[in-house]
Amino acid sequence: MDFRQQKRYGGRPILSGAVPLQQECWVTCPYCGETFALVVDGSAGDQRYYEDCEVCCRPILFHIVIGGDGSVESVTSRREDD
Ligand SMILES: [Zn+2]
Repeated sequence: MDFRQQKRYGGRPILSGAVPLQQECWVTCPYCGETFALVVDGSAGDQRYYEDCEVCCRPILFHIVIGGDGSVESVTSRREDD
């Protein structure tokens, strides 16, 4: 096996610079502690919005920070009354 050959292609995505517009982020509900996937649109920039928990249906305030390359930098979930 020739590992040098493989190394040339490792590490970086083939489509360099291309970030998928929709990214799945795992978040935790601040009310019931359940973890579920949130789909974030990275092309829209920083976002703050309410979304009901998929499990307990209470409104969660999400604060999403988008990095310069359109990738999700951080997702914060908070209670409505925080
Ligand atoms: Zn919940």
